[in-house]
Amino acid sequence: MKSLQELTRENIWKLKPYSCARDEFKGRAAEVFLDANENPYNQHFNRYPDPLQEELKAKLATVKQVPAASIFLGNGSDEAIDLVYRVFCEPRQDNVVAIAPTYGMYAVCADVNDVEYRAVELNPDFSLDADRLLAAVDAQTKVIWLCSPNNPTGNNLDRQAIERVLTEFQGIVVVDEAYSDFNDQRPFRFDLDRFPNLIVLNTFSKLWASAAIRLGMAFASPEIIALFNKVKYPYNVNALTQQQAMKTLDNMQQVQYWRATILKERAQLLPAVAELPICKAVYPTDANFLLARMTDADRIYHYLVDRGIVVRNRSRVQLCGNCLRITIGTPQENNALLGALRQYR
Ligand SMILES: *Cc1c(COP(=O)(O)O)cnc(C)c1O
Repeated sequence: MKSLQELTRENIWKLKPYSCARDEFKGRAAEVFLDANENPYNQHFNRYPDPLQEELKAKLATVKQVPAASIFLGNGSDEAIDLVYRVFCEPRQDNVVAIAPTYGMYAVCADVNDVEYRAVELNPDFSLDADRLLAAVDAQTKVIWLCSPNNPTGNNLDRQAIERVLTEFQGIVVVDEAYSDFNDQRPFRFDLDRFPNLIVLNTFSKLWASAAIRLGMAFASPEIIALFNKVKYPYNVNALTQQQAMKTLDNMQQVQYWRATILKERAQLLPAVAELPICKAVYPTDANFLLARMTDADRIYHYLVDRGIVVRNRSRVQLCGNCLRITIGTPQENNALLGALRQYR
């Protein structure tokens, strides 16, 4: 890996971050807070939240088995994705390389930040060709985006291929593991010590059933986390979100029950969709959704919408012609989907 200073934009490396009232006062317990121009009334809502979410990170460190200093929390994973560009990529000068198809936000944030985005197609079976990916890298490539299990294809990328990219690429490698809770492969966050250029993304939005609170996680070296903390808005995670996240972390048994239910439903739904006459193939999935190639995805999509069932039409995405992406729902929802698809003419 190049040095972190070489990879970081010069203005960010030199940046003196905003120092908020909650940063400056650290120490003994206090009772009288006259430092932040808050209104002393309307308790529970009147005080600025902890800018570094320390209580929440301490609990997450236990649940995720990652040191608190290696955790960044943001307004969804989307904040972390944007920060990767703002920290590492010089607009109109640097570029990033990504697999295709994949999650759309990597490309959108590249456009917003005026950074060239180089999409490298996966193999037709959606596996990663590390050689082809690395061939797209040049001296201005700062970041490689990987997503495993990948959205919208659902498959885990091969661990050996990811490790090759981590070893041979001299810049930052992001592995988005938003869906890693839905399979038993070893998560990459346990390998942060081996790969100083690794950033792993996780989210509260999928297995943890908390998409509405907007909370995403990035795991990386304490040095990379410190750069993120320097650039982020001072109070990027609001108090209500921090409180609700604590409740979720106190209820991991419930989460494990959801996981078991969703995996059981996935195992039933996959063959049931595959044997429909209008389905040409269902791809193997390591996530809480499946990608199905249909006879006529557009028509089937609108047919389902007319019956109040919404799936994701991915038929205009590369390698995904005529494909629908279907989230695993409750047993009742999955049955409604299957019933409708069986009646399709
Ligand atoms: C859903 C999803 C996320 C989650 O984004 P949030 O902003 O945390 O809700 C991240 N990455 C991928 C690939 C996703 O599909």
